[in-house]
Amino acid sequence: MLDFEDTILAVATPAGTAPRGIVRLSGPAALRLATAVFETDDPAAGMDGVGFRRSSGQLQLASADGSVRVPAERYVFRAPRSFTGQDCAELHTVGSPSLLNMLVAALVELGARRAEPGEFTARAFVSGRLDLSRAEAVAQLIAARSDAQLRAARRFADGELATRVSTLTGQLADLVALVEADIDFAEEPIEFIRPGELRERLAAIGADIEGLLFDASRADRADVLPRVLLLGRPNAGKSSLLNALSGLDRAICSATAGTTRDILSAPVKLPRGEAMLLDAAGLDDTPDGLLEQARARVGVEAETVDLICIVVDVAASSAGDGGSLQADIRALRAAARGGEGSGSRDRALMVVANKIDVLDSRETALRLTPLAELGLGPVCPTSARTGTGLDELKSALGRLLEDERSPASPDALQLNARQREAFSAARACLVRAADECATISQTAERADLIAFELREALDALGAVCGAVTTDDLLTRIFSSFCIGK
Ligand code: GDP
Repeated sequence: MLDFEDTILAVATPAGTAPRGIVRLSGPAALRLATAVFETDDPAAGMDGVGFRRSSGQLQLASADGSVRVPAERYVFRAPRSFTGQDCAELHTVGSPSLLNMLVAALVELGARRAEPGEFTARAFVSGRLDLSRAEAVAQLIAARSDAQLRAARRFADGELATRVSTLTGQLADLVALVEADIDFAEEPIEFIRPGELRERLAAIGADIEGLLFDASRADRADVLPRVLLLGRPNAGKSSLLNALSGLDRAICSATAGTTRDILSAPVKLPRGEAMLLDAAGLDDTPDGLLEQARARVGVEAETVDLICIVVDVAASSAGDGGSLQADIRALRAAARGGEGSGSRDRALMVVANKIDVLDSRETALRLTPLAELGLGPVCPTSARTGTGLDELKSALGRLLEDERSPASPDALQLNARQREAFSAARACLVRAADECATISQTAERADLIAFELREALDALGAVCGAVTTDDLLTRIFSSFCIGK
C-alpha cells in the first residue's frame, strides 16, 4: 500500500445510481490517464500551470458493443497542490454504476490500479499534506454517524490536537536540551537546571497531559449518543415508533407478533441533540415468560442505556382493564431494572401509551389514568401510525436525557485508543523522570537516566501526530478507511 509510484483510482461517490458519479485518480500517470478517456470541448484549455483546472467535454469509452460517449467534466489537481500531494484527477459524469464500472475498467486497462481502503489519505500523510491525527480525523468523518461525532472529528481535522501536542513537545524538548547540556558539560562547575525546577516543570507538562486525557474521557461519553431502550410486549408498536421517530425504515413492522428478532437501533433527532433508540424486540407473548425473557435480553443493554421507554398498546383489549396493564408494566419495569432488589442502577423510565388513534378521547383518558398512577415517570400518549404525540414524546425524551447526562468540557478533544496510549506512555516517562529528580541534589547525578526518560516521552508524544511511526502502524490505520478516501 505504501508504493507511491503506482497510479491508483477509485469511485469516490457512494454505490448506487445517483445524479453524479466521480472517479478519482492519484499518481504519476493520473493526468495522462484522465486525458486518455476524455475529449475536452475546449482543446485550448490545457492542463499546464499549478493548482487546479476544470474542463467540460465527453468521456470516450470503448466497449464490446461499440463506443460510448457521455458528457463529463475533468478536474486536474497538479502536484503538490492536491489532496494527496501527487498529481490527481477526477472525472465527473453521470452516476450510473455500469458506466462507472466501464470507466474504471478502461483506466485499469490503461495501467491504473484500484486503490486499497485509505490509500488516498495514506499518500496525503506521507507526502506531508496531513499529519496522522488529521488523517485519522478523515476516517472519523467518514465513520461519524451523529452530529456530536462529526463536530469532534472536525475539530481534530482542524489540527487542534497537533497544535496542543506541539506545545507540549516544545516544552519537553527545552528540558531535554538542558538535561543533556548537564551531561555534555559534566566537568564544568555549572548546572543548567536544578532538580527541583526540573521536577516542577515536568509536573506541569504531566498535568497538561492528564487534563487532555481526562477531558477526552468526558468527551467520549458525550460523543456516544444517549441510548434509549424501547421495551414492551410484541405488537405494542416499538418498531413502528422506532421508524416514525427516526424517519428511517430500520425495523420491519409487522402485525405478526415477534417479527423483529434482534436489537435494532436508529438515531433520532430531539429538539436539542440526538439519541440512539434501541428496540429490544422479539419477546414471546407468554405472560409468565415475559419477565424472564426481557431480563435476559435487556440485562446487558439495561446497563448501558440512559433511559427506558416502556411501550404499551393502550388499544389492546386487555388494556381496557387497567389492572392487567399495570401488572404488565410492573413486570417490564422489574426486567428493566434487572429485577427488584438486584442492586442494579436505576434508569430513568417513561411510559409510551401507543395506538391512541384507535380510541376516542374519553376512552384514551380512562386508560391513561392507571398508567400515570404507577408513578414511573411521564406518560406520553402516541400514535406511531398517525404521528400524533410524537413531537411531545421527543420533547419528553430530551428533557429526561438532559437530567441524566452532564455536559463535557468545551475544550475536550476526542482521542482514539492509540493516541490515548501514546499520551499515557509519555505521562509515565515524565513521572519516572520526576521521581529521579526527587532523589538527587544535582541534575548531573542522574542526567543520563532522566534524559533517557524524557526522550522516550518525546517519542511517545511524537507518535500522537505521526512523527514516529512504522509502515505497519500506517497500514493498520489507513486500512480502516473506505476505498476512494
Ligand atoms: P412491535 O412488535 O412492538 O415492534 O410492534 P410493531 O411496530 O411491529 O407493530 C405491530 C402492529 O401494530 C403493526 O401492525 C403496526 O402497524 C401496528 N401499529 C403500530 N403502531 C400503531 C399505532 O399507533 N396505531 C395503530 N392503529 N396501529 C399501530
